[in-house]
Amino acid sequence: MIIVIKPNTPRPQIDEVIAEVQKLGYDPRPIFGTEQTVIAAIGDELTHHTLVSLNALPQVEKVIPVQKRHKLVSRESHPDDSMIDVDGIKIGGGAPFCLMAGPCSVESEEQLLSTARAVKAAGATILRGGAFKPRTSPYEFQGLGSEGLRLLSLAKKETGLKIITEVLSERQVDEVASHADILQIGARNAQNFQLLIEAAKTGKPILLKRGLSQKIEEWLLGAEYILAHGNSTVFLCERGIRTFETYTRNTLDLNAVPVLKKETHLPVVVDPTHGIGLREHVATMAVAAVAAGADAIMTETHNSPEHAKSDGEQALLPHEFQDLVARVRKVAEAVGRTL
Ligand code: PEP
Ligand code: MN
Repeated sequence: MIIVIKPNTPRPQIDEVIAEVQKLGYDPRPIFGTEQTVIAAIGDELTHHTLVSLNALPQVEKVIPVQKRHKLVSRESHPDDSMIDVDGIKIGGGAPFCLMAGPCSVESEEQLLSTARAVKAAGATILRGGAFKPRTSPYEFQGLGSEGLRLLSLAKKETGLKIITEVLSERQVDEVASHADILQIGARNAQNFQLLIEAAKTGKPILLKRGLSQKIEEWLLGAEYILAHGNSTVFLCERGIRTFETYTRNTLDLNAVPVLKKETHLPVVVDPTHGIGLREHVATMAVAAVAAGADAIMTETHNSPEHAKSDGEQALLPHEFQDLVARVRKVAEAVGRTL
């Protein structure tokens, strides 16, 4: 349930409600607003006794039962858009539109740094790059592992770009978190709940990709695991779903963007690169994502895609990324966003 406190209630009286919620056997999660505070109470179904007890408190404006299974991620528990601070870069909640870019895999110092410099010059603020790669075939390049993480930290030091990189298993969480500003959970791990819990515990922002064939409700429940374990800094990243269509790599479900914006307060990121999988169409889907209301995009860019060890066919060349940014800027302005 959500308990809405009357506007401008002093803190001690809010604390009384929190104590009462605890006494009734629920786990209170207060969200303090500038004027109004709401308390999300996690626990069993709302009983008549609970409803009466809480409504009897003079500082309580109303008690809203939440039927939805995703509670902490829902807009009811947090009416305003969440803004997430990634080591000084703000994303979501009306912050400027954010560009995340970089290679699919970290391959070498030269490849990473040259790509990082190029995407930074074009306007990106976050560098992506996989050190641990979730490859469909065990015979394909699996990533540089720890060496890849070291190179990402080097690129951060040199360019100032913040780092997003994927964590594949619970065992790697601490190591990846010591280099990354955002932990990426990939499509193949979207319902690896133990991994979600371990990643949540680091307190680092987490970008949760949509599973390969995942319904929006299931995806939101994955995010709910992270919030339920005390970490509310979650980005939801639409990266295309599996459909009957095979012309494109996946089907980028832009329907998800307005739906997520309605259902949740979490920032929405779109990955048009894996969504369509064809370099020539990535920029078009990127601008579509901006128009649909996304808060950020993540694209693959490579200094030399023909030599890439993974996903070369969908990676943009640096000058193509620059063109994409110019198009994104125009559409962002048209929909009232800055870049
Ligand atoms: C990636 O972004 O590197 C990646 C592997 O993507 P996904 O999990 O969406 O397939
Ligand atoms: Mn890739």
